[in-house]
Amino acid sequence: MKFNFLSESDQAYYIHKASTLVEALPYIRQHSGKNIVIKYGGHAMGDEKISKSFSQDIGLLKEVGINPIVVHGGGPQIGAMLKMKNIKSKFIEGLRVTDKKTVKVVEDVLSNDINSKIVEGINTTGGKAVGLAGHLDNIIEAEKLEIAIKDSDSNIEKILDIGFVGKPIKINCDKINENISKGLIPVIAPLGYDKRNSTYNINADTAAGAIAGAMKANKLLLLTDVPGILDEKNKLISSLSAIDALKIINKEYIKGGMRPKINTCVNAINNGVKEASILDGRIPHSIILELFTEHGIGTQIYN
Ligand code: ADP
Ligand code: MG
Repeated sequence: MKFNFLSESDQAYYIHKASTLVEALPYIRQHSGKNIVIKYGGHAMGDEKISKSFSQDIGLLKEVGINPIVVHGGGPQIGAMLKMKNIKSKFIEGLRVTDKKTVKVVEDVLSNDINSKIVEGINTTGGKAVGLAGHLDNIIEAEKLEIAIKDSDSNIEKILDIGFVGKPIKINCDKINENISKGLIPVIAPLGYDKRNSTYNINADTAAGAIAGAMKANKLLLLTDVPGILDEKNKLISSLSAIDALKIINKEYIKGGMRPKINTCVNAINNGVKEASILDGRIPHSIILELFTEHGIGTQIYN
């Protein structure tokens, strides 16, 4: 059977397109009515074309009955603003050391600048997004994060003070659900508050993981600027269990921002999230490729 108005190659193209849709069906069924948390990394949001394909993917998820919840980062943009203001950036264990001046810049860039751009992007491609700030909308209650570092010579642990960096202690799911039930796509800036009204900078991966756990998400997707977790030979690890992920986390070849990512995935799974993936957000339609195709594209971490 041929459709005689098309060339052979066009026919093959459209048949392939149709089969792609059919291939997506079981995955759509699997996630329909469920929450999927997507962390949109600062590194993955540079290019206009990619931002558009991200917005389209998010809109498509909502259209097929899945509830996407976006949590965004903004590392490079925060870095650029700090540089402009002559404030030095320093990282420990992939986390930004955040003094009072820095937290003000973080708050400004995340909740005013980046958040509204993402909301606008989703809305111009036909979705309905709502911008929420983890601190102002009382979504992320946090406390100061303490990081312990072991001195390699003496083996003595010392606690490092990295300033206004928080860890989430409670997520206000009602507030998120309230927006989902209105048909909106929540876009959340990773800032936290505490009872004394301090504002905390929270690593966006950590915030996304905590939200995924609290919202019992089917899936957590961490979009970044590398294909996934790369091994010592720079080869993509396409899947591994949460137990194996913990085994590699302190290896030499896992550095910087990848450590909090792996930790986040493991914690999310321990909190009831079914699967977590780290994937390359620079690939057009990376979300659709990861969720709706058999092999996915990044590193999948499972229970
Ligand atoms: P994001 O803005 O997406 O959170 P980060 O810079 O915080 O990005 O984290 C991603 C970075 O982690 C990568 O760009 C890469 O340089 C670094 N990284 C360190 N170790 C690894 C590894 N083993 N595999 C992949 N990326 C790694
Ligand atoms: Mg990061």
